[in-house]
Amino acid sequence: MYDFAYHKPASVADAVKLLADPDAKAVSGGHTLLPALKHRLNKPSALVDLSGIAELKGIRRVGNAIVIGALTRHVEVATSAEVAASIPALAYLAGHIGDVQVRNRGTIGGSVSNNDPAADYPAAVLGLGATVHTSARKIAADDFFLGMFTTALEPNEILTAIEFPIPEKAGYAKMKNPASRYVMAGAFVSKGPMGVRVAINGAAPCVFRQADMEKALSANWSADAVAAVKQAADGLNADIHGSAEYRAHLVTVMAKRAVAAAG
Ligand SMILES: Cc1cc2nc3c(=O)[nH]c(=O)nc-3n(C[C@H](O)[C@H](O)[C@H](O)COP(=O)(O)OP(=O)(O)OC[C@H]3O[C@@H](n4cnc5c(N)ncnc54)[C@H](O)[C@@H]3O)c2cc1C
Repeated sequence: MYDFAYHKPASVADAVKLLADPDAKAVSGGHTLLPALKHRLNKPSALVDLSGIAELKGIRRVGNAIVIGALTRHVEVATSAEVAASIPALAYLAGHIGDVQVRNRGTIGGSVSNNDPAADYPAAVLGLGATVHTSARKIAADDFFLGMFTTALEPNEILTAIEFPIPEKAGYAKMKNPASRYVMAGAFVSKGPMGVRVAINGAAPCVFRQADMEKALSANWSADAVAAVKQAADGLNADIHGSAEYRAHLVTVMAKRAVAAAG
């Protein structure tokens, strides 16, 4: 690791001030950032530890939405009675992130801000048409994920919470890498106030909506309807774990499973 200063602010306002330094970085669970620092892949002047900010914590129902604070750990979403009752697919997703250690350390805010192509939460955020709350504004999911590890967040903008509209139906399925449990290809499907949505993660450099599947499901909500839709391999990820063609095939298989899980 390189040397850096360490700050632990008690409020979002103080954290934003500290992040005015363009070389400072926010840290939540540290599960992605700390390994990067250990490998000297990142050289921040300061770490701004968000873990002491009470206003970033907690899960609550607000009208017809579930609002989850950025610092909420995956295990808390997986075991929340409120989430299980309103959006069981989201509880299922959180309960299948990594392993026990990852779920007890990683946070929803860190995961969504990081926008790893193989992360789980971006599929739920896009697949439910959630709204991302930040220290400065509210951003619709459709405008948030811009590319690999890239989001609409400005350098000194903090993700504070995510507002998930409660759907009529939702389901999630992923083919996971057997070692890391990161997603090879996954699908989050939903039907509700934001219409019919299908978000695909793991397969491409960034989570994306599968428009042909959304059209098919709008006409006929059934696993058979998405089974007929093929995903093109162009532009999909290819690596030692699987070719683009394999991932394209998985997209249809995972979408079918997600619709079946949604019921
Ligand atoms: C072995 C292993 C297996 C894993 N498997 C999976 C898996 O199967 N699925 C999956 O989805 N994830 C997986 N993860 C990732 C894990 O789920 C963490 O959620 C993820 O690393 C980021 O969360 P964090 O809180 O640790 O973020 P941090 O490491 O603290 O931060 C990550 C990035 O986000 C920024 N950041 C953090 N919080 C905020 C905020 N509130 N506002 C703005 N920027 C912020 C940081 O500056 C940094 O750039 C795995 C991780 C490990 C180590």
